Amino acid sequence: MKIFVLNCGSSSIKYQLIDSEAKKVIAKGLLERIGTAGSFLKHYSVYDYAIEIKRPVANHTEGIQMVLDALVHKDYGVIKDLSEITAFGHRVVHGGEKFHESVLINEQVIEDIKKCIPMAPLHNPANLAGIKACMTLMPNAPHVAVFDTAFHQTIPAKAYLYGLPYELYIKYGLRKYGFHGISHQYVSGTAAKYLGKELAELRLVTCHLGNGASVAAVKHGKSIDTSMGFTPLEGLVMGTRCGEVDPAIIPFLMDKEDMTGKQVYQYLNNKSGVLGISGLSSDFRDLEKASGNGDERASLAMDIFAYRVSKYIGAYAVAMGGLDAVIFTAGLGENSPVIREKICENLGFMGASLDKEKNAVRDGIREISKDGCPVKLLVIPTNEELVIAEETERICQNIVFL
Ligand code: ADP
Repeated sequence: MKIFVLNCGSSSIKYQLIDSEAKKVIAKGLLERIGTAGSFLKHYSVYDYAIEIKRPVANHTEGIQMVLDALVHKDYGVIKDLSEITAFGHRVVHGGEKFHESVLINEQVIEDIKKCIPMAPLHNPANLAGIKACMTLMPNAPHVAVFDTAFHQTIPAKAYLYGLPYELYIKYGLRKYGFHGISHQYVSGTAAKYLGKELAELRLVTCHLGNGASVAAVKHGKSIDTSMGFTPLEGLVMGTRCGEVDPAIIPFLMDKEDMTGKQVYQYLNNKSGVLGISGLSSDFRDLEKASGNGDERASLAMDIFAYRVSKYIGAYAVAMGGLDAVIFTAGLGENSPVIREKICENLGFMGASLDKEKNAVRDGIREISKDGCPVKLLVIPTNEELVIAEETERICQNIVFL
C-alpha cells in the first residue's frame, strides 16, 4: 500500500509517501511559511530528485495541492496517478481522553479533535486544517488520525492526576496526557526486536530528546508514566521550554515583571529551557561548541538538562519495579554522545554502564552499554512517519479490502 503521511503545523506541512509493505519512503518533503509570500517547498523523491519550488501559498489546501502535484509531476513525480495512494495518515497532537488509538476520520472525529483545541491551541487547529484540506482534495480516500497522546492513555490515574481538586479534572480534563507517544511506541517496539525479547516482558525507559523532549516509562509494552503533562511544557528542561517549575513562580513573575498570565506562559514556552539558562541558544550543537570553548553557562545548561533526564530514569525504574533498557532517540538522543554520557554518569549503580567507545559510534540502531550489563543502553533512531503509515494501514485494512 502507498500511504501518504502528513504532519501539519500552523505554517508548515511535513509529508512522506511511504510504501508500507517495503517500509520504504518513496517521496518526502517540507512546505514552509504557508500564508506568507516566502513559501517554499522542498521535495525529495526516491529517484534522487530534489526540487525546491518558491511561490506564495495562501493556505493548507493550496499547500497540499502543490505537494500532490509534485507527487505526480511528469519529470520528478513518483506515481502516475493520485489514485495510487491507498490512504492518508494524519498526525494529531492532542486526542484528549477520547482517543486511545488511531481512528478513521469522519465528521464526529473532527468534532472530537476540535474539542481538544483548548488543550493544544497551537497544534490541533493546524492538524485540523491539514485534515480538512486533504479531505477536500481527496474525498474518496480513507483518512486516519494518529495521536501523539494515544499511547499514553494506559497511564494509571495515580500517575496522571495532579494534586489539584478532583473537580477540575471532571470540569476541564485537567490531568497529565503526555506527548511524543508515536515515537515512544516506535522505539519501545524496535528495542524489543533488537533485544530479541517480547515487549510484554520488558521494562523500558524511552528518552525522546529533541527540541521538545520527554521521557516515558514503558512497562510490558504500555506507557505507565511520562514527563510531559497537560501540555508539552511539563517535565524536562527543553530547548526553549522550562519543564517543571514551582507553580508559585508564575504569580511571582506576573507581579515582579508586570506580565500577564499569557505573557508568562509564552516566556516559559519560548524563552526558557537551555536557551534561557545559557543565554545563547536552544540548539545543543551551539551549546556543545560554546561549552568546549569554556562558556560556563552553556556547560551549566547541558548539565541541568542531563541531570533532569537522569532523575526521570531513576524515578521510572522505581515506578516499574526494575529496568531492562534505556533508549535514546530524536535529534539530540540520537546524535549527541556528550549529552548521553552526562545522562548516564550515575546510572552504573543500577547496572547500566555506558561504554564510551560504543557511545562515540554514530550509525543506526546500536547498544552503547558495556558488554554484559544487566541494563542495556540503546540508541534507536525514531521513525514517527512509519508508525503513522502502519497505523493507517492497520485501520484501513478492514474498510479497503472487505
Ligand atoms: P524536533 O523534532 O523536536 O524539532 P529534533 O528531534 O529534530 O527536534 O532535534 C533537534 C535538536 O537535536 C536540535 O535542537 C539539536 O539540539 C539536537 N541535535 C541534532 N543533531 C545534533 C548533533 N549532531 N549534536 C548535538 N545535538 C544535535
